[in-house]
Amino acid sequence: MSQSVESVTRATFDEVMVPNYSPAAIIPVKGVGSKVWDQSGKEYIDFVAGIAVNSLGHSHPALLKALHEQGDQLWHVANVLTNEPALRLAKKLVDLTFADKVFFCNSGAEANEAALKLVRRYAFDHVGEEKHEIISTYGSFHGRTLFSVSVGGQAKYKEGFEPTPKGISHVPFNDLEALKAAMSDKTCAVIVEPIQGEGGVYPATQEFLQGARDLCDQYGALLVFDEIQTGVGRTGKLFAYEKYGVTPDVLTSAKALGGGFPIGAMLATDKVAASFVVGTHGSTFGGNPLACAVSEAAVNILSKPEVLAGVEARAETLVAALTDIGARYGLFSEIRHVGLLIGCELTEAFKNRAKEFVIAGYEEGVMLHVAGPNVLRLLPSLVMAEDEMAEGIRRIEKAVQRVVGAA
Ligand SMILES: *Cc1c(COP(=O)(O)O)cnc(C)c1O
Repeated sequence: MSQSVESVTRATFDEVMVPNYSPAAIIPVKGVGSKVWDQSGKEYIDFVAGIAVNSLGHSHPALLKALHEQGDQLWHVANVLTNEPALRLAKKLVDLTFADKVFFCNSGAEANEAALKLVRRYAFDHVGEEKHEIISTYGSFHGRTLFSVSVGGQAKYKEGFEPTPKGISHVPFNDLEALKAAMSDKTCAVIVEPIQGEGGVYPATQEFLQGARDLCDQYGALLVFDEIQTGVGRTGKLFAYEKYGVTPDVLTSAKALGGGFPIGAMLATDKVAASFVVGTHGSTFGGNPLACAVSEAAVNILSKPEVLAGVEARAETLVAALTDIGARYGLFSEIRHVGLLIGCELTEAFKNRAKEFVIAGYEEGVMLHVAGPNVLRLLPSLVMAEDEMAEGIRRIEKAVQRVVGAA
């Protein structure tokens, strides 16, 4: 035999992978819609969607078609040339949002890195070097580059990586008075997730986002919305800012933008984007034709009114089921959600045991996720089929029974 397929198992991970993750015991090998199968052929109903990435489920025919067609044409050219898929996708995003200009990259952290550099550069261009302070919120998550962990509001992601960039401060999320007190003429930008995702699924209040907008205008600062988790349909709007009716100057997107193919984007107004003159920023893979072709196909579907309307319908079904299960087993003190970004806060009896539900879920053939130790997070495909949802809910209850029975 000339070809041998080496068998790899979960144990291989510990042998050859850097130990920064702790993946589950099973290894998925195939996915269709909201169903996933592991190496042994066991089926799972997927309520995680690659953490808000596979918003059209797995192996969506339109994405497969785009991937195959573009794969036959052109994969990569680098930014010494532009390409048709990138131009088409940028046009689409400009048409569908407040933005006039788009910068493509490959991940959420890179989109935020671009945004954070842009807001500094804009202030540098228009006012001067002293206007460089960035205000963020505690509990926020903005990615894992050094700049984005520094701006992120969770100390654990910075520990051991100091010194971090200077000129960054944090205020409590949804505390408009604290934000007011922190603002000054030195503030170049405020960055906020309209709904904190990793931090525990906490929606911003209308007052906070509107207040942040007003304060930014008052101090000549830019408002940046990190919509990497909340965007591309997750909340039932293409972007969550539409839901609030508060428009940022800069918006970052990734995760669902590529429907599973890695891509990130920073969207900005003309005036702000103008500060990224030739040579100020870049990315070899950013705007890659394959990524942009798949993303265009994803955005085409996820921006359809009927698809966005379907998000709220599915959210109602799922939240009602979780509320019912939660009540019968005394699980949740609160269920927070905007569209299909759902966080179930555990009661005192199950405090800090979110991970146990995820592990029990794998046993029962259902994929669940956490947002911190005390919140069970669900962020399924936005087009999840009715029968997948119903079967998934049955399996969630079985997983719950496992945890409760073992208590
Ligand atoms: C996931 C996420 C990021 C980081 O995205 P990566 O693609 O992992 O770099 C940044 N901000 C928010 C709000 C996220 O949910």
